[in-house]
Amino acid sequence: MQRRDRGVAQSLGGPMTKRVKESRVLLVGAGGIGCEVLKNLVCCGFGSLPRNGGAQNGTTSDTHTEQVAAPQRKPEIVVIDLDTIDLSNLNRQFLFRKQHIKKPKAFVAKETASQFNPSVNIDAHHASIFDSQYNVEFFEGFDLVFNALDNLAARRHVNKMCLAADVPLIESGTTGFNGQVQAIKKGVTECYDCNPKPVQKSFPICTIRSTPSQPIHCIVWAKSYLFPELFGTSEEDSADVAVTEGDNAEEVAKLKMEAEALKKIRKLMGKSEFAQAVFDKVFHDDIERLRSMSGMWQSRKPPESLRYETLKSDIGADLITRGQTLCTQDQATWSLHDNLSVFCYSLDALSNRTRTRENVIEFDKDDKDTLDFVTSAANLRSHIFGIPLHSEWEIKQMAGNIIPAIATSNALTASLCVLEAFKIMRSQPQEQKALSKPTANNHLPTTTQSNVGGKSEGILGGSKMVFLNSRSTERMITTQNLAPPNPSCPVCSPVYAKLYVSKDIKATLHELVLLLKEKAGYDEFSITSDVGVIYDPDLEDNLPKPLRDYAPEAQGHQFITVTDESDEQPKVDLVLSTVVLSDTEMETSKLQILPEQISLPSKPVKAAVVDGEMDGEMNGDPEPVMASSVGAKRKRDAEEEVTSAKKRAKADGNDDEVFVVQDDEAIVLD
Ligand SMILES: [Zn+2]
Repeated sequence: MQRRDRGVAQSLGGPMTKRVKESRVLLVGAGGIGCEVLKNLVCCGFGSLPRNGGAQNGTTSDTHTEQVAAPQRKPEIVVIDLDTIDLSNLNRQFLFRKQHIKKPKAFVAKETASQFNPSVNIDAHHASIFDSQYNVEFFEGFDLVFNALDNLAARRHVNKMCLAADVPLIESGTTGFNGQVQAIKKGVTECYDCNPKPVQKSFPICTIRSTPSQPIHCIVWAKSYLFPELFGTSEEDSADVAVTEGDNAEEVAKLKMEAEALKKIRKLMGKSEFAQAVFDKVFHDDIERLRSMSGMWQSRKPPESLRYETLKSDIGADLITRGQTLCTQDQATWSLHDNLSVFCYSLDALSNRTRTRENVIEFDKDDKDTLDFVTSAANLRSHIFGIPLHSEWEIKQMAGNIIPAIATSNALTASLCVLEAFKIMRSQPQEQKALSKPTANNHLPTTTQSNVGGKSEGILGGSKMVFLNSRSTERMITTQNLAPPNPSCPVCSPVYAKLYVSKDIKATLHELVLLLKEKAGYDEFSITSDVGVIYDPDLEDNLPKPLRDYAPEAQGHQFITVTDESDEQPKVDLVLSTVVLSDTEMETSKLQILPEQISLPSKPVKAAVVDGEMDGEMNGDPEPVMASSVGAKRKRDAEEEVTSAKKRAKADGNDDEVFVVQDDEAIVLD
């Protein structure tokens, strides 16, 4: 223990070691990257000063109107994770062991990591980061936030909360052998939303339903069309399939009718003829209808339909029993007859579940019945269209959009997170932020703040965007300078302020409108909450309604956006993060805004907008990117046009690419 302390002190120097020990940091996510980050934080001594060594107010429930006298924050690491431990986590989330399966990740991570350094203070929360308790004031209580999340929604939420609270965020992610670490600070760097994120690729409905040419098309058909039609909600809810411009409207209408007919067959569920009815409908009748559309098959091989009775008589055994045996052999590629057997077996198993205990079953790659069904149905369809069949194991990878999570990528990325944390902490002013008077964090996107901390080492203490490519033999780690904020980013360009709403009174929207006029000098403006526009100069109907209707504690309802509607030199948006207080916490019954006076700069002139795009391209260029980004952006635009034109041409020629998508980021596999 002591030896490790000495090592850290020698590496970081005395003053920095002290700051690390005094720090209060938040780690969101205790999964693949989160476990590794936590281990590193604990071993480096983050938040390891004794708890009673400075903090007097144990749980900080002081009145919020006395912000100025806020107590010193207590040194600790707060970990929040919603998940419980699953067997499949154990190959890379090394804080967990077999006996921890089904237990909350946050609690077990705390328990295990505490043993590495008993002097560290860890506070574990088994909860969703969207919970209203984690409001902007909660975020303000940290020196630094680490994102170790696996989904876009939560990442974007934490990004916004950190901007609102003006706390630096270290965002990280891995996909397979690649990793990325990015420091985000309001007004200084790009935020997570400054660049549009790749959206999940959806397939044109006609490719999936009428003209599949690749295994993935049949898998998506089985998973996103047939399965939900039989056991879940309808296709309309699926993000995998969409009506696109290239789709033939007439064909789309016919496909709708086909789906309706399938719904009728669903009523036969539980009866002995169910399997045959489904099979003949989707693998015979629908295929024959497709075949009859001769225009479709001029340049393609037409599909060959199948008959249940014919195939069944070839087998001459009980299909369900046979399927039950076969489906344990997930590495083998099943024959046509094998697939029919597994199809009947899984249909029977799923029907029983639907009738006895589950109203709706969703496809889950780890739910064996659903995977058996999707595998066999996809293979039967592949056979019909002359597409190669695949083993269940292979289909699981494709259907589950699986990109293997690699322990070393996570470990390397997590270590880079902590190295960036040191740089940021060194660049931050020495005094405790909680002691300073609250101000609006309306930093204008400017580069003059580059030298925070007084040293000319670049923005955020020289922090960089870091890329990991563990597969590269040349350079495993590359960096890129952090880009300045995108002035037209809807998330980080507004000014953030806090709106205190009492839980027990009914402040109206009218009160808010008056308050905004007074505090921010608005004339013509509109107010938007998650439910849409709730007020504008022509919409006054809502004025008498209680504000709580629009800013409840419910998840995702924490922000209200105020937009200046004046024609001349409109101001930037104002985003109010609502903090709901009990009567005892609030001194007056009126709405309050902090800071008391808000000054809003004008919106940047459109022509000067630099789309601070970061295209993930790896370059170790030490020169600042700001000066060249306009030109670079233009060049990229041109390149993108070429690529998308190529893609369009490809799509027209029905030569589709395979896209494998993970929860958080899209990976394109040609
Ligand atoms: Zn932004």
